[in-house]
Amino acid sequence: MPLVVQKFGGTSVADAERIRAVADHVARSRRDGNDVVVVVSAMGKTTDELVRLAADVSATQPAREVDMLLSAGERISMALLCMALADLGVPATSFTGSQAGIVTDEVHTRAKILEVKGDRLRLTLAAGGVPVVAGFQGVSTANDVTTLGRGGSDTTAVALAAALGADACEIYTDVPGVFTSDPRIVPEARRLPRVSFEEMLEIAATGGRVLALRSVEFARNHHVPLHVRSSFTWEPGTWVGEEDPEMEQAMVTAVTHDLSEAKVTVTRVPDRPGLAARLFRALADRNVNVDMIVQNTSTDGTTDISFTVPGADLAVSAEVAAGLVPEIGATGVTTDDQVARVSLIGAGMKTHPGVTARTFETLAAEGINIEMISTSSIRISCMVRADRAEAAVQALHAAFELA
Ligand code: ADP
Ligand code: ASP
Ligand code: MG
Repeated sequence: MPLVVQKFGGTSVADAERIRAVADHVARSRRDGNDVVVVVSAMGKTTDELVRLAADVSATQPAREVDMLLSAGERISMALLCMALADLGVPATSFTGSQAGIVTDEVHTRAKILEVKGDRLRLTLAAGGVPVVAGFQGVSTANDVTTLGRGGSDTTAVALAAALGADACEIYTDVPGVFTSDPRIVPEARRLPRVSFEEMLEIAATGGRVLALRSVEFARNHHVPLHVRSSFTWEPGTWVGEEDPEMEQAMVTAVTHDLSEAKVTVTRVPDRPGLAARLFRALADRNVNVDMIVQNTSTDGTTDISFTVPGADLAVSAEVAAGLVPEIGATGVTTDDQVARVSLIGAGMKTHPGVTARTFETLAAEGINIEMISTSSIRISCMVRADRAEAAVQALHAAFELA
C-alpha cells in the first residue's frame, strides 16, 4: 500500500471545525488505499502566543524551558486530531517527537535532527492505525525536549517521510501551493505546478515561508518528493522535486522578500589585510549567519564594511563589531533594522543575461534605492528600505511578467 505523510500547518488545524475537516481528509485518504502518517503544527497562532507569554514572564528565558513551553502547542493538536479520527472510526495514536523517535542535537530552539527511529510509528501502521506526530519537536541526545526552529513541522514531515520510505510528503497549508510571489502581497501571483529543489531552496532561504528551509534541504538530500497544497480546497498544488531536464527553465520563477534581516556597518576600517577576517571570524564564533557583505575602499585608504544578519542576531553582531573597533582601528558601528531583502529566483538566469539590468531598471523606475546587492547563479537579491519592499516585489513581479 502506498504510504503518504500528510502535514497540516497551524491554519489547517486552527479550530474544532478545521480539525474535523482534516480528520475527514485523513479518513478519505485511507479509504483511497493509502497508509497515512500525520504531522500536525500547533493550532493557529498558538506558538506565537507562547513566545509572547514567555517574554511577558521572563527576561532570561533559558532555552531548555523555551522548548518545553513551545512543544506544548503541537501536543494539543495531535491529541484533538486523534479524537476527531476516533469519531470517524479511524484508529489513531498520537506521538510526541520523542515518542516518535526523532533524535536531535542539543541546540535548543533550533535543534537539528540526527536520527529518526520511528519504530512505534511502524508498529502503529502495521496494526492498521494512523500515527499522528507532533511536528517541530524532538528529543536531544541528552534526553531533553528540543524544537527545530520556527516552521519546523515541515522538517518533521520530510524527515519522517524519508525515514519511513514514504511515496510522497504532502504539506497542507492555507494557500493552494507555491506561488510566483507571496499571494498576500501580489494578488495576481500564479501557482507554480512544479518547482525544482534548487529553486525552492532559494525561495525558502529568501523569505518564501511556505516551506521551511531545512525541510527543503532534507527533501533534496533524501529525494523526498513534496506536494504543497491547500487544506481548504484540497485541490492539487505544487510538486517540489528534482529538476526536469526536458523542461525549459524559466528565467525568473519567483520574487520573494524578507523583512527579518538587519544591516550593520563598521565605519572607516583601515584598508589592511586581515581586518575583515578578524571581524567575520568573531561573528562566526558567536554563530551569526552573515548574508550580504559590501566593502569598498575610499581614496583615503579606509573602508566601510556593511553586512546583513538575521534581525534576531543584530544585537550580538553590533556588540561583536563594537568590541573590535579599537583593535582594528575603525571609527564606529551603526545598525539599521529598517531594511528588507528582495530576491528574484530562476534557474534560467544562468543562461539569460540581462536579468540584473532589468531588475535595477525596474527598481529605479519606482524610485527605489538599492543599498546592497548579492547574487548566486540562480538568484539576485537587493537590499532596499523596508517600507518599499512590497512595492519592489510588485514591480518586479510585473516587470518579469510572472502573473
Ligand atoms: P503553515 O502554518 O501551513 O505552515 P505558513 O504560514 O508557514 O503556513 O506558510 C504559508 C504562507 O506562506 C502563506 O499563507 C503565504 O502568505 C506565505 N508565502 C510566502 N511566499 C509564498 C509563496 N511564494 N507561495 C505561497 N505562499 C507563500
Ligand atoms: N508551530 C511551530 C511554529 O509556529 C512549527 C510550525 O508551525 O511548523 O513555528
Ligand atoms: Mg509553515
